[in-house]
Amino acid sequence: MNAPTVDQAVALQQAGDIDAAAAAYAQLLAADPRQPALRHNLGRIRLQQGATAEALPLLEQAWAEDGAHDGWLRSLGTIGITLYDLGLWEDAWHWLSRAAARAPAGTRLAPALTDTLRRVSPRDYLAPEVYDPQQGRTFLRHVPRESDTYVYAIDVIGTCPVGNFAAAQRPKGFMKAELFGSILDKIVAERVAPRPAVCLFNRGEPMLHPALPELVQAVRQRGLPCHLSTDLNVRSSLRELARASPDKLKISLSGFRPELYACAHARSDLALILANMRLLRQYLDEAGADTHVWVGHHSYKGGEAELPAVESLCDELGFAHHPVAAFYQPLERLVDLLEGRGAPDPELDLPIEPPRDYVTRIRATSSERHDCELRFNQTVINQDGSVALCCGVYDQPNMLGLQFVATPHSALEEAKYRHPFCATCMRHGLSYTVRDALKPGGFS
Ligand code: SF4
Repeated sequence: MNAPTVDQAVALQQAGDIDAAAAAYAQLLAADPRQPALRHNLGRIRLQQGATAEALPLLEQAWAEDGAHDGWLRSLGTIGITLYDLGLWEDAWHWLSRAAARAPAGTRLAPALTDTLRRVSPRDYLAPEVYDPQQGRTFLRHVPRESDTYVYAIDVIGTCPVGNFAAAQRPKGFMKAELFGSILDKIVAERVAPRPAVCLFNRGEPMLHPALPELVQAVRQRGLPCHLSTDLNVRSSLRELARASPDKLKISLSGFRPELYACAHARSDLALILANMRLLRQYLDEAGADTHVWVGHHSYKGGEAELPAVESLCDELGFAHHPVAAFYQPLERLVDLLEGRGAPDPELDLPIEPPRDYVTRIRATSSERHDCELRFNQTVINQDGSVALCCGVYDQPNMLGLQFVATPHSALEEAKYRHPFCATCMRHGLSYTVRDALKPGGFS
């Protein structure tokens, strides 16, 4: 085949034939590597194809060779947004910062770029790295994905052990109002972040707490964002809750097939949840509440078919819809499974992807340099005021043995970083961390 010309390669790219254009650029660069514009174009195509491990070195080299070229003005923002859409926020920040620095004097970035740059920028309240004494190494911190501020997850109700962990020792009962108030006062006094979020849930169903609306009001009176998550099986205080107007409310929906829902939630049925969703919409409207409601739709195998129906229901009710593949928990059970301990678990009869498969897949692209968001950006407080290692664990050995109100934040952090379970969790690739753009094959 004859060598392509530059014009032919560009024409292929402009016509949308990116595979052929990439081949042509690669051929031209092999013949003469001193062509940063072609390297840039090839990098952009590789990025478009999701081949970030190839794209980023090409783009970096092109930038180093020819970063002053005006052509970059159009390109920097697009590269940043593409990386953001791929979940690679640290890389997106790098390129969007360059876009901001290169914006012509007297002009500003487009609002969408400015908003994205703000979301992916490192947080002042987080040290950029941390030493882990258990593992004898330093981890980088990344921009939190789950929240744009520090998170306190308060289990206002302690419930019976989950089905696959009957032997777990957990505090039970309702959190008392005085304890709750003391916790909020300490959160305000410590100011770990400018305006930390308070989530009134972890393992227990918060709607079972008889004073939940008052608890929401107490959070909001202190000027803090209040988030809830519920399976919406209970409606007794729904109207009062809508009046209390939490900032965000997640409805946790275990599939959209009645037989499957009943399997995931004993003593409940999907028809009740759907009725309660409509009731919630009605009560929020009555109260004029601006609560952002979203449906965390746990999708089981074969669940793709149910997505349009849930999407349409959410559209009708003005709720956001976030499908997520159902996964196995808690972490202690997952570690048992991966280490070959224990009998086959009945919950595995639920149609989820086998945990070994998805753990292997996620691990293939996970960063090994970054810390776990669940330990650097979250404090989990149990119903009795004690503190857990993170929201992923369940059993007593993974509680820190410290009371939140009596323990300074720095001492809680130290206890988390000294806890041995994180090393086990990370060894299995289970920590909540970011993807590594330079691991090959992850996005193709
Ligand atoms: S590393 Fe694992 S156990 Fe430790 S905080 Fe993260 S998710 Fe929890």
